[in-house]
Parts: sequence; structure tokens; C-alpha cells
Amino acid sequence: MSIQNTVVYGCLVVGILITNIAIAQAPSPVKATPNRAAYFPQTEDLKPDEMRIISLGTAMPFQRPAQAAPSFLVELGNGDKFLFDIGTGAAERLAALQIPYNYLNKVFLGHLHADHMGDLPALWVGGTINNRTVPLEIWGPSGSEDQYGTKYAIDGLKEFYNWDIATRRGAFVAAGQELIVHEFDYRGENKIIYEENGVTIRSFPAVHAFDGPVSFRLDWNGLSFVFSSDTFPNKWFLEYAKNADVVVHECFVTVDDLVNRMNFPVERALLVGAQVHTPPEAFGKVMSMVKPRMAVAYHFINDFDTAPNILEGIRQTYDGPLTLAKDMLVWNVTKDKIDVREVVYNENVWTAPIVERGEIDTSLRESESDFIKAGVADFSDVISDVYRRTNEKYGTDVKPELTDSQ
Ligand SMILES: [Zn+2]
Ligand SMILES: [Zn+2]
Repeated sequence: MSIQNTVVYGCLVVGILITNIAIAQAPSPVKATPNRAAYFPQTEDLKPDEMRIISLGTAMPFQRPAQAAPSFLVELGNGDKFLFDIGTGAAERLAALQIPYNYLNKVFLGHLHADHMGDLPALWVGGTINNRTVPLEIWGPSGSEDQYGTKYAIDGLKEFYNWDIATRRGAFVAAGQELIVHEFDYRGENKIIYEENGVTIRSFPAVHAFDGPVSFRLDWNGLSFVFSSDTFPNKWFLEYAKNADVVVHECFVTVDDLVNRMNFPVERALLVGAQVHTPPEAFGKVMSMVKPRMAVAYHFINDFDTAPNILEGIRQTYDGPLTLAKDMLVWNVTKDKIDVREVVYNENVWTAPIVERGEIDTSLRESESDFIKAGVADFSDVISDVYRRTNEKYGTDVKPELTDSQ
């Protein structure tokens, strides 16, 4: 029996948990060493009973390269994937995971602050260009008036992108250009807003600046994920997040950091850091009452010189399992255990492969006016050659449009 096997045998009383982690294999100059305590996208199957959560953005309304604005991806062993908020910069992280856009068509918005939906256009149009053949669907709350609801926001987004939509009509799969809104009542208290394929998602009100914000709870296969979006501690969260497996709740930068690093006036720092948002001590108190298997704090600057203050605040009121979130962490959740690791990804990725090509109705395509066409330079010799070589290589017979009209 090798030393390694002796170690495993000696730990049998603790069960499979021990055999799955941190049993270092004997180093070899030629063999790969598995289990490097990191997650490399597209190298691990999602097991049928497993939930995989990835933090795409964890920081603030302002932009910084190290942390995008809030967004969490939840992947389930049944193949379903859900995005909770899609803040500015998150779409780039999402692309690094190399998941085809056809599988990323369900977005749940907790509220309509820019830092929680800033990259919705990138996901939407990016998906269209990358041949998403299904509509992008958005679930989001109503507001105190129509003009503050998700439907109003998405209608406005479509208007903002009207020219973009027109240019791509007839050039990409029409369904992939669609944006479908499911607006639900923000006052629903643990109301089901999504139920399909064994997955249930409920919403409950959040307390954040104005009427409208909500938090979400996802249940599937005996596992649960709760996402606060933004909120001050509230009675709904304390009740409906109770005993969930992974509970993600905002935990804002400290009032001191708002004053000293950002030059906030004290009065505004207290308003933003301890009224509109949840300060670390209050986050800890929430988790002590909710008692998750894993508490996740996000919405702060997670640097070497700020994280200690956040941790100190949280530990005043909570001593349970905790992750101080930063971008691109992964939580692998099963009934037996929750592993937390860093995602290691290639910054030079190409877009994810197309799942299906789909039908494109080219008759919908509108071309330039005669005025613009008259400006086309006669490059027919060069362009014809590109077409000829390509047609020969792929056995096609495609003709140029612009040079033909000259
Ligand atoms: Zn907000
Ligand atoms: Zn926020």
C-alpha cells in the first residue's frame, strides 16, 4: 500500500469528502497533476446533482478592471443556466467561460440600477452576433409606476438600439434578436416568478432607495441559491433566505472607506453605506439569522487593504462559513459539500462555438441608399478575388453586393 492509499484508508471514517480533495499525488516529471485547486472553464462536467455558481461581477457602480459590477451565474446539473443581474463588465467575464449564448438566455434583474444591468446590451447584441437562435428573456420587477418598471426599461433599451437592430435584421437569426420581458409585481412576497424543469425561482421585496428592488431565491433538486441584489436588511430576506445553501447578500464598502478614499461627506457616506446599502456588521447579523451553508458577501472593493476591514466588521456578528467574493470565484454545491475555488481563464478567448446555425430570413435585410452606394470605391478587382478564392475553397457561389452595384 502506498503512502497515499494509507492516508485515504486512515481517513475513511470521514468519508468521501477527504478522498476528493487535497490528497496530493506523488509529483512526476511527466504526468499531469490533477486537482490544482482552480477551475478552468470547459474542463469539468457539471454532475447531475450539482449546482455551480460563478461570480462574474462583485464590485461597485464605478468601473475598475479588477472587479466588474454585480452579476452571478448559476448553472444546474439539469443543463439550465441563470444570470442574476448583469452589471457593467460582467459580459466580458461571462464570455471567458466559453458558454454558448443559446444557453445564456435567462436573466433575472433584482433592480434597475445601472451597475446591475449595465451589460445587458452587451449580452443581448453580443448573443445576436454570436448566433443565438433563441430570444433573450428578462425577468424583472415592476415599479411604483409603469415608468419605473422593467418593461419600460427594456422598451427604452430597444429604442436606444433601434439602429443597431435594423442593421442586423436579415443578417442574423431573427429569434436571437428578440428581447422578451417578464415583469412581475415587486411586492410579491416569496411569489413564484419562474417554474420549469424542476427549477423554482421566487422573489420578495428588497429595501433599496426606492420601491421596486427585489431579491431572489432559486430552488432545484434540494439545493438553494439566494441573491439579494441590493438591499438593506429586511424581514423578507430574513424569512425567505433562511437555511438556504448559498446565500449571496450585498455587503457594502465601509463608511470610513467612502469618506477617506472617495471623499464622500460623512452624512452621504452614512446614507449610502449604512442605509441604502448593508454595512459589514449588518451583513454578519443577517447571516447569523439566516444560517446558510455558505454566506457570500459582495458589493465591496476586495483589495488587500480593504478586505480586512470588511472581514472584521462581519466577524463581529457572524462566525459561520463565509466567502468574501471577488470576480471569478466558483462554488461547486452538492448536498455533501461546497467547494470554493478561483476560475482561471484565458483572456484571449474567442467567442463560444455556435450551437446551431438556424435559418436566416435574408429578405428582411435593408441595404444602403443609392446615395451611399454611389460612394463605394471601385475595389472590384480585390474584392472579386476574395470572393473567388473563398467560393473555390468552400464550394459556394456567393456574389459581392457592393461591387455588383457599381
Ligand atoms: Zn442599487
Ligand atoms: Zn448595486
